[in-house]
Amino acid sequence: MIAIDQLTFGYSGNEFRLSIPRLRVALGEKLAVIGPSGSGKTTLLNLVSGIITPERGNILVADTELGALGDARRRDFRIRSIGFVFQDFELLDYLNVLDNILHPYRITSALRLDGVVRERAEALADRMGIGDKLKRWANDLSQGEKQRVAICRALLPGPRLLLADEATGNLDPRNKGRILDLLFDSVDAHGATLLAVTHDHELLSRFDRVVDFADFLPGSVPVTNRNVFPSPRPFDGDRLDPRSVPDRPTGAHIRSRRIGPQRGEG
Ligand code: ADP
Ligand code: MG
Repeated sequence: MIAIDQLTFGYSGNEFRLSIPRLRVALGEKLAVIGPSGSGKTTLLNLVSGIITPERGNILVADTELGALGDARRRDFRIRSIGFVFQDFELLDYLNVLDNILHPYRITSALRLDGVVRERAEALADRMGIGDKLKRWANDLSQGEKQRVAICRALLPGPRLLLADEATGNLDPRNKGRILDLLFDSVDAHGATLLAVTHDHELLSRFDRVVDFADFLPGSVPVTNRNVFPSPRPFDGDRLDPRSVPDRPTGAHIRSRRIGPQRGEG
């Protein structure tokens, strides 16, 4: 579903560098991305969604080379194929909850808004526990409610790829489990792929695999000494080739390992 090769990226004006020699995410896989603040997790999601473009290297999403698309087609591809739950939600203050959830349908001709979609939006909001807030302004919601609106908006078009940036971060434990169930159910129902940045280490066992950005920050503790994972396994060489990791890291590099088979637990 995602194939990244020889990717490098930096922002102008600071020293941060993201370097990903190789990363594969399989169709239907649920991948958790962890790592310290500032290690480039959000940057990775922005690159995968085509919001920003790499300096060098290739990003293939659903067999589409993002770099080969112009800005308009990349945007249409993103709206049609990718659901993105942003870390800061990015709700529109001048729209109510329902119109925020329906927003993707209003900004591209690639999605068609009709009565069925509206009903699905309302049903989704119901299941997220915000069905009684559809007419509220986005501004008048709690952080947890905003987060659930953002999740509804990302899920409604039934995207093939769901990117979630700390999507359970602002939720209380009860809602956290419930929302994660909904996220996973929705991903399974569409055969979609999930890439989720999370700080909730107790949720990691529900994912198929974990990528840890910390292991590639300069001066980091070697992976084998870390105790983050419930059942550490060797690197998955097929998905990220350790040989292609540079000797001298200049920023965040990533490596991954499988933690399954624990799907459905917890
Ligand atoms: P994380 O999500 O892991 O906390 P980010 O990907 O948001 O990390 O940021 C990685 C680094 O890039 C940080 O040092 C951050 O300050 C910097 N950064 C993020 N966004 C921008 C931007 N738009 N312009 C310049 N620097 C940025
Ligand atoms: Mg972030």
